[in-house]
Amino acid sequence: MKFSGKNVLITGASRGIGAQIAKTLANMGLKVWINYRSKPEIADALQAEIVAAGGQAAVIKFDATDEDEFIKGINLIVDTDGELSYLVNNAGITNDKLALRMKTDEFINVLNANLTSAFIGSREALKVMSKKRFGAVVNVASIVGEMGNAGQVNYSASKGGMIAMTKSLAKEGASRNVRFNCVTPGFIQTDMTEVLSEEIKQNYINNIPLKRLGDASEVAETIAFLLSDHASYVTGDVLKVNGGLYM
Ligand code: NAP
Repeated sequence: MKFSGKNVLITGASRGIGAQIAKTLANMGLKVWINYRSKPEIADALQAEIVAAGGQAAVIKFDATDEDEFIKGINLIVDTDGELSYLVNNAGITNDKLALRMKTDEFINVLNANLTSAFIGSREALKVMSKKRFGAVVNVASIVGEMGNAGQVNYSASKGGMIAMTKSLAKEGASRNVRFNCVTPGFIQTDMTEVLSEEIKQNYINNIPLKRLGDASEVAETIAFLLSDHASYVTGDVLKVNGGLYM
């Protein structure tokens, strides 16, 4: 994969899809900034693994919902590397329950964690990238933001909002040569889907044309494409990585 930029910040990168994105992009030659919120030992171990494999990686702690911390994090990266070429807004949470039982706080907290954090990151990245007239951002949304899901009104609203926000950002960023795209993973094997019962997982698999859950590496490769020079004419797009579950 060919990249004109040199570094990338990945939020929520200590485990799951984020960790795989970090490994994939480091392997392709980018310096990766591994953001974590808790568990520094996992983030440090990932950094060590990437460096041992010949890649460049740094660890950066902040809570992506905390505006001041996020801005300080991006400033630190720019002070260290002279630029931020790419951003992947990957940090996300779920807090599932039926709408009838969901408290307003439980709705708002998921929106903040998934959507507001991506807004803060996108806005700050756009400021920095505009100065260089170069950059790309990928927002990790979800199939659930496209098709809805019972028990996930908060999560689906956050991810549907992320898709719409990304298209608006793409229109604002285009004149500055900053691209914004989304991926919408289906059901990928991580801690987030580990909590689902075997019965629910099997139900999904029965409905997935490719007849399996996805692997984090399959999401990471798609993100790498969207960030790379190969996607230089792709902006405001939503790339599905879902085994055909939603077309
Ligand atoms: P995961 O295994 O639960 O990992 C989530 C990561 O996000 C963790 O590293 C977590 O850090 C971090 N995080 C959460 N809130 C944060 C915050 N405020 N600030 C910084 N980091 C934060 O989830 P995953 O499956 O890898 O999901 C990654 C992304 O893909 C999410 O946006 C998710 O919605 C999306 N997605 C996943 C699937 C799937 O099937 N797995 C499908 C569609 C979309 P801590 O360790 O500190 O909690």
